[in-house]
Amino acid sequence: MKYSREEVIQYVEEEDVKFIRLAFCDVFGRQKNISIMPEELPRAFRYGIAFDASAVEGFGDESHCDLFLHPDPETLSLLPWRPEHGKVVRMFCRIAYPDGSPFEGDTREVLKRAEAYAQQKGYAISFGAEQEFYLFRLDENGDPTKIPYDQAGYMDMAPYDRGENVRREICLTLEQMGIRPESSHHEEGPGQNEIDFRYSDALVAADNVMAFQTVVKTIAYRNGLLADFSAKPLSSRPGNGFHINMSVRSRDGEDHMYSMMAGILEKIEEMTIFLNPWENSYERFGKEKAPAYVSWSHENRSQLVRVPAAVGEYKRAELRSPDPTANPYLAFALLIYAGVQGIEKGLALPPAADFNFFTEKEEILRQYRRLPKTRQEACRKAEGSAFIRECVPETIRRIYCDRI
Ligand code: GLU
Ligand code: MG
Ligand code: MG
Repeated sequence: MKYSREEVIQYVEEEDVKFIRLAFCDVFGRQKNISIMPEELPRAFRYGIAFDASAVEGFGDESHCDLFLHPDPETLSLLPWRPEHGKVVRMFCRIAYPDGSPFEGDTREVLKRAEAYAQQKGYAISFGAEQEFYLFRLDENGDPTKIPYDQAGYMDMAPYDRGENVRREICLTLEQMGIRPESSHHEEGPGQNEIDFRYSDALVAADNVMAFQTVVKTIAYRNGLLADFSAKPLSSRPGNGFHINMSVRSRDGEDHMYSMMAGILEKIEEMTIFLNPWENSYERFGKEKAPAYVSWSHENRSQLVRVPAAVGEYKRAELRSPDPTANPYLAFALLIYAGVQGIEKGLALPPAADFNFFTEKEEILRQYRRLPKTRQEACRKAEGSAFIRECVPETIRRIYCDRI
C-alpha cells in the first residue's frame, strides 16, 4: 500500500501516531533518523526538516551545514515494536540543500536515477536480497561480546539452534511492516543466521534492506543479543554475505540475464569498493563460500555469480561478493548501470567455471581475474574507472576512497 501526503496526515491522526521518524542513510548506508511530532508533519512535507549535516560523516563540513529532509509518503511504515498507544511510524527521506536542489551524497537518489535510466532503456530489473548476520551475547553491562548465541551449524534445528525464536520474531515483525521474507535458516557459522526476501524493484528492495537491518538489530537487542552484520566477525569462521539475486526483462518480456551478468562481471573490480567498503570485507573473500575470482557457474558456490537451477518467475542470477556493510542503494545502482550497459553492448558470459575454486590447482586459478585483495586495491580500481566516474557522484567517490 502506497500513501499520498494527505493519506499519511490522515493516518497519523486516526491511528494515534505520536512520533514520526524521518529516516535516511549516510553514504555508507548507515541509517539515521530524527523524530518529529505529528503537528510538524505538514511543515515537513511542505518545506522539509533541517538537520546539521556537518555531524553526519561525509555530509559536509562546518561551512555549509544545513541540509533538509523531505519525507517520501510512499514509504510510510509502522514500527511494530514500539508502543500500541502513541504509535511510531517511519518514512524514508530525500535530502536537499536549503534551495531545494538535490544533495549529491543522497544515495537513495542515486538509485532512483539508475532505475530511471534502466526504464528509459526499456528494462525492468528485479532484486532479491539475502543477508547473513551473527547473533552475539551481551555481557552483564549490556555490552557486546564475541560469544555466539549458539554452536549450531547450517540449517540445524532446536535445541542446537537457539536463533529460531529470534528469526520468527524478525519475520513476523517484517510482515507487519509489509515486507515479505521468503525463508530463514541457521547458517554455517555458530550463531549465524540468514533471512531471504521476495524480489521487488530496486528502490523497494533497498528500502527493505535498510528496514531489515533495523528490525534484526532491534529484535536481537530485545533478546539480549547483538546482531553483527560485518563481513567477517570471527576470523576463522564463515563471513556474512549479502547475496544479491537479479533478473531482467525488456518490455517485450525477453530475458537478458546472461548479458546483464556479463556487464556486471566486466565492471566488478571497479565497483568492489562500494560492495565491500571496509578492510574487514577483504578478509572474507576466498574462504567459506565467499568468492575471490571473477567467474560464474550454474551450481558451484565458490563462484562470484551463481545461476541456480530455477524456472519461470524464479529464474535469476546470484551475485555472491557483496557483504552486508554495503550501502544497498549504491550497490543496486551500480549493478543496474553495469548490467544495462552489458545488455546494450550485447556482451556474452565467458564459459562457466564448473569446478570448486577452493580446491582447484593454482595454474587453473591463475587464468581468472581476481577480486581486489585489499581495500586500497579496490579504491585504486574505482579511482581509475570511467564507469565509476559516470555513475557515482564525486562527493560519494571521495568519501569512500579518502579514508585509506
Ligand atoms: N557465508 C558465505 C559468504 O560469506 C555464504 C554462504 C552461503 O552460500 O549461503 O558469502
Ligand atoms: Mg547463506
Ligand atoms: Mg545465497
